[in-house]
Amino acid sequence: MENHVVDARNLYRLPWTMPDNGITWLEPTSQCNLNCYGCYRKNIKNSHKPLEEVKHELDFFQSMRKTDCVSIAGGDPLLYPDIVPLVADIKRRGLKPILNTNGIALTKELLHELKQAGVFGFTFHIDSKQGRGREKEWMGKNELELCDLRLHYAEMLAAEGNIACSFNSTVYDDTIQYVPQLVEWAQKHIDIVHTMVFILFRYITPDTPFNFYAGDRKIVMDDIHYHSDKSEVTDIMAPDIVNKIREKYPDFMPAAYLNGTHRPDHFKWLLTERVGTKDRIFGYAGSKFLELVMTLYHYKHDRYISYASPKTLGLGRTTLLASWGVDKGMRKAAGNYFKYLSANPFRLFKKVRMQSIMIIQPVDLMPNGDQSMCDGCPDITYYKDDKGREQLVWSCRLEELMKYGDFLRMVPKNAIEVEQEQEKELVK
Ligand code: SF4
Repeated sequence: MENHVVDARNLYRLPWTMPDNGITWLEPTSQCNLNCYGCYRKNIKNSHKPLEEVKHELDFFQSMRKTDCVSIAGGDPLLYPDIVPLVADIKRRGLKPILNTNGIALTKELLHELKQAGVFGFTFHIDSKQGRGREKEWMGKNELELCDLRLHYAEMLAAEGNIACSFNSTVYDDTIQYVPQLVEWAQKHIDIVHTMVFILFRYITPDTPFNFYAGDRKIVMDDIHYHSDKSEVTDIMAPDIVNKIREKYPDFMPAAYLNGTHRPDHFKWLLTERVGTKDRIFGYAGSKFLELVMTLYHYKHDRYISYASPKTLGLGRTTLLASWGVDKGMRKAAGNYFKYLSANPFRLFKKVRMQSIMIIQPVDLMPNGDQSMCDGCPDITYYKDDKGREQLVWSCRLEELMKYGDFLRMVPKNAIEVEQEQEKELVK
């Protein structure tokens, strides 16, 4: 089905790899002030690492991997007592510090301090399954109602000035319906919202056809952090989201992707760059535009870009003019822009901007139990085992290493086990 919606052969395969990537993931704490359903990390109170230890992790990253930005996550990084000096340290290393937060602990004063320290951007995780119970006004709100909260943070960043603003939300079977309107909301705020990210929900559910092992030890499903006690849809795919967005934006067209480690035609990170104003999207960058941006940036800075600054994204008209000759998508967008101008030349005063829409499709389970991960995983992080060996690992599965000292292997259940489980269900 995927190939009818998006064809990998027409996209640019992002050049990100293990040793040379746009992003690296840092977790200075596992403490959080929310307990989001769907989170990959256990919330542990007072789990802040000493700043020197976190700096060592950064040294390790830099010895192993070129990176453009460092996503500071957790837990919630704003709860980390040394967050300001940590941001300053990352900036001093010539990297872009990005804070991945739910936003609750963000005050104007802290934002100002972080800006002074060199923060490049924020990615706010906001969705309707975060149990924002303590913030009474957001309790029980759906994805669209939460746009007021998103806007609050986007305006806060805009008032501080030139800070990249992104929003993440996990997409579930019962929230996929809201995706087109969220993309529309982002367009209305294209001046202060730079990226929207949709992360597809993945969990282990009771109807799993697999047994789980850490080494030779069998692990019961209920013991695994990311498991659900009820049956859920865990196989929404990136092209399903593209299809959904096309209900509102029929021309919506991704330009670049990361494939799966086991499937070249799976779109694990699917990136769309659109160009427009608050009231009109002129078009979508094509694969050649992304190839050119990545190549030129790497030539100049010796690493691949991940986040662009709001100032750069605000140069939509210049970008259209500079790239129309090399990219089909930009040529079409430029044509639409000139038609738009010819209908009313005063529109020349409207600022044209770029905006990114990213769809992330985490681990996919293959029928034989193999796990297809993002090939060229950007969110790779640091892990030290009990023998002191350091390595780079997938942050979405760090919990397995921390709990079992190994990644889990999945082995298909045999026919007798499946039958026994079905009988148990019938008795219930
Ligand atoms: S492999 Fe996991 S950690 Fe890496 S990018 Fe994919 S979802 Fe994120």
